[in-house]
Amino acid sequence: MYTGRTQQPCCLCDDHDTSHRIAVPPRAIQLMENGDPIAWRDVVGAVTLEFCESDWAVVRDLVLETGMSPLSRCNVARADFDLREDFEALLNDTRGEPDQTELEERLLAEAAETVAAADDPMTEDRDLVEARVVQLSLQELGVAEP
Ligand SMILES: [Zn+2]
Repeated sequence: MYTGRTQQPCCLCDDHDTSHRIAVPPRAIQLMENGDPIAWRDVVGAVTLEFCESDWAVVRDLVLETGMSPLSRCNVARADFDLREDFEALLNDTRGEPDQTELEERLLAEAAETVAAADDPMTEDRDLVEARVVQLSLQELGVAEP
């Protein structure tokens, strides 16, 4: 059982020695392995994924060179996110679905800025990978324009 927020293992191989972390919108949980039962609309804030050094190299190439998302191979059980407290859900009469749009728009705007600055020497690979995964996943889910 993992109870802390800071020590999630690599989402691909379960290695606890991780080197890189990216944040993706909760909706992207649907694209992850074992993501189906998760009520992604009840996730508060972004979902973070950890990668070990060797998997990071693969993910980096996959995303930046092939233009593919690694999410389908990331186990959601190893992702880090906060679910909305139940009592908050109960207080909400309609049990309405929280709106994820604002967070998604912010992540997409940040991603667009990062991708636009891809050639800037100050732009790091990690940022670029994160930006592309955000774009690719929301495109796949029909939220963003390809
Ligand atoms: Zn790994």
